[in-house]
Amino acid sequence: NKSIIYREIPDGLPTSTHLSLESSTIPASAPAGGLLLQTLYLSLDPYLRGRMRDPETKTYSEAYVLGEPLSNFGISRVLDVSSTGAAAASGLKKGDLVGSPFAKTQFRLYQPVPEEQVAHYAKIEEKAGVPLTYFLGILGMPGMTAYHGLVNVGGPLKAGETLLVSAASGAVGQIVGQLGKQFGMRVVGSVGSDEKVKYVTEELGFDAAWNYNAEKDPYAAIDKYIPEGIDVYFDNVGGPLADAVFLKAKVNGRIVVCGTISQYNTPREQQYGMKNYMEVFQRRLTIKGFIILDTMINEPGTIQSIVGSVAGMVGEGKIKFKEDVVEGIENTVSAFQGLLTGKNNGKLVLKYSD
Ligand code: NDP
Repeated sequence: NKSIIYREIPDGLPTSTHLSLESSTIPASAPAGGLLLQTLYLSLDPYLRGRMRDPETKTYSEAYVLGEPLSNFGISRVLDVSSTGAAAASGLKKGDLVGSPFAKTQFRLYQPVPEEQVAHYAKIEEKAGVPLTYFLGILGMPGMTAYHGLVNVGGPLKAGETLLVSAASGAVGQIVGQLGKQFGMRVVGSVGSDEKVKYVTEELGFDAAWNYNAEKDPYAAIDKYIPEGIDVYFDNVGGPLADAVFLKAKVNGRIVVCGTISQYNTPREQQYGMKNYMEVFQRRLTIKGFIILDTMINEPGTIQSIVGSVAGMVGEGKIKFKEDVVEGIENTVSAFQGLLTGKNNGKLVLKYSD
């Protein structure tokens, strides 16, 4: 068996010293009352960086435990089901595909699931024409985040309003921008390369986008691409762009704070400090943060209707979704580093086996 074990808390970009690839024996069968799973796909998400922290620091997510494998949303095949206890009662059968709605799939090729954790795994009902990996992306947590963040937190949306989204070609950003178009908004994206500019404008129908690595002054970029001012900013990155938006938002503008990835690898005392905070009252801005996990836990009905809406748009071809699939457990750490430095092109998914 091979696993990615959490060995050390990183203070910057995580490396193989912090996340180490280790071998062990493959379990022969399910533990009593439990399951034996084979991991097919794992989602790599920026929030995993926040789980690599001092466990005394409490946040919305559980800190990873040193010496244990990483875990996240994943898709596994059931290899063995114990004939007793929770596993037998679960109705799961050998060969079923299961997801883990609460991010318990471990970063290992074969995963024994003890009886008390069987309830964390749910059978995936495959849909014709829908790639399995979409359950980790547009039909999974990132899709819920994009829809809930834009429509419920950032709304009510009005046709003709201007939406700016950062990390616009990523898992969440690409959906946010396309949803904005569905609501009749003018959509502008900020991305990290010319290729990503091309993708969001030519493939996804964004009205404009800029590469912040080439056009480095966010004030000038906003003046150039959004001369009318910003009604809604969907913030995935924080830092200097978010600061510039305070000054360039329209009066009564709304800012949805989804994430601040530009600051995730920087210690708190060295993070970018906002200079335009006074614009929040001068421009009567509304700033709202949210955590999709809250909605997943407390509002299953909302989540069900979001997934239904998004699945409908996917089925009707109204929305596209780009994935970046990296094969092999040995490429886990470099793929995660790439996610935190903008190397991914679309939703990053790890493929561990067929
Ligand atoms: P993405 O697929 O967008 O991948 C991350 C992207 O962030 C990179 O491709 C890169 O795009 C951009 N990025 C990386 N480093 C920097 C940097 N230093 N400055 C600016 N941009 C950077 O990831 P997701 O769509 O999964 O996540 C997007 C955001 O949404 C994250 O902040 C994440 O934490 C947040 N999130 C929040 C949730 C919530 O419940 N609030 C739930 C899910 C995600 P580029 O090359 O364009 O810069």
